Amino acid sequence: MSDRPVVTRIAPSPTGAMHIGTARTALFNWLYARHTGGKFLLRIEDTDRERSTQDAVQVIFDGLAWLGLEADEAPVFQASRADRHTLAVEAMLARGSAYRDYMSPDELEAERALARTEGRVVRSPWRDLSPNDAPDRPFVVRLKAPAEGETLIDDQVKGAVRFQNKDLDDLILLRTDGTPTYNLAVVVDDHEMGVTHVIRGDDHLNNAARQTLIYQGLGWTPPVWAHLPLIHGPDGAKLSKRHGAQAVSEFADMGYLPEAMRNYLAKLGWGHGDDEIFTDEQAVAWFDIKDVVGAPARLDWAKLNHLNNHYIRQAEPARLADLVARVHQSRDWPLRDGDMARLAQAIPFVRDGAKTTLELADATVFVLKHRPLELPAKALELLTPETRERFVRLRDTLAAAPTWDVPALEASNRAFAEREGVGLGKIGPALRAVLSGGSPAPDLAGALVALGKDESLGRLDDALSLNS
Ligand code: GLU
Repeated sequence: MSDRPVVTRIAPSPTGAMHIGTARTALFNWLYARHTGGKFLLRIEDTDRERSTQDAVQVIFDGLAWLGLEADEAPVFQASRADRHTLAVEAMLARGSAYRDYMSPDELEAERALARTEGRVVRSPWRDLSPNDAPDRPFVVRLKAPAEGETLIDDQVKGAVRFQNKDLDDLILLRTDGTPTYNLAVVVDDHEMGVTHVIRGDDHLNNAARQTLIYQGLGWTPPVWAHLPLIHGPDGAKLSKRHGAQAVSEFADMGYLPEAMRNYLAKLGWGHGDDEIFTDEQAVAWFDIKDVVGAPARLDWAKLNHLNNHYIRQAEPARLADLVARVHQSRDWPLRDGDMARLAQAIPFVRDGAKTTLELADATVFVLKHRPLELPAKALELLTPETRERFVRLRDTLAAAPTWDVPALEASNRAFAEREGVGLGKIGPALRAVLSGGSPAPDLAGALVALGKDESLGRLDDALSLNS
């Protein structure tokens, strides 16, 4: 097995939302494939025809695309492979590792009751009966699993997990209507997709034992298993709605950047020493499934916010402007020509404190306002006759500023205050209010640069032309 290139996969069921746990599983599979120079595949487990709508499938495509975890090949749709699943069962029947079970519903019920009182799993008599004695009635096909011994799952995360075969019943492979069952489909698909490593949530650990028996029944080698502990909420309980968010789309809507999510999710159950912040390249270089910790990981909003702030401070302003513009639009703020450029220009001055792109949107409202700005009562109060006179002189100073950047404007504002014989406190709040219309804005020089010279002077002119 070790000489074959690694193939990992994510096999989500399209249920309408993409859970953050699925995203983390996808990330670990992607990282491991990249780390080993292997392939990362996607299989849509859409055999539940009622729930598997095209919309639900699209949610998975969108979630993976947003996270930047696209598969290396076209997706495989499990439901389209029913013929392959049936063929595999025929091979097992031929090998004697599966049998047709003709128990009627009543017989099955009676066997169930007996098995319960005897403290054992259900065993059909058709395990050992000759198919020649078969009655003419519906049957299921079951795996002829070993009744003794144990099945060992040598799990990369959990260590050696042993299952007693006497506790595993003969799994149904094909139902009476001939449709394949879940565990069978997973095994046939993983094998035929060449999957070498199955990395998934530990809610599937029991399935690993059953699937191992199916592999053996088919004469195939099982993959390497790695079962990841679930993600819990900050309080240690299973992650649920009340913890704030659990779907990938919710994190996107809350203004988290995909690279922050990747960094954060990588840290949920895996880590590289004390490194909190790392690039995709570093994660790929460092990642190994063996280093995944076995204990459940807890969602920590403060850490996620810290990382998101880091990546917001790193991102290209033009990209953030695009994201922030969408937030403004979703809040019914009509965007004008030039607003993208305005946002991109302002973002470097407001992003340091932003934990999400929603906060970045709050912090950029002031640049999108149209002249003349409506000034709140508090701003008007600051515009005393004395201040207005001073602002006429300030306007001239600003208009003459040779450079329009933060250090130059800070120096010029300070010099102006000194000339006027007042503290900056006499100028700053009123000017900021005039520039921002009372919305949050950065410090004075930052606000001036974020708005640009023309707009700043224009807003100041508007305020000065108001009737006092
Ligand atoms: N379809 C399963 C799920 O969404 C995953 C199965 C697997 O990874 O083997 O939980």
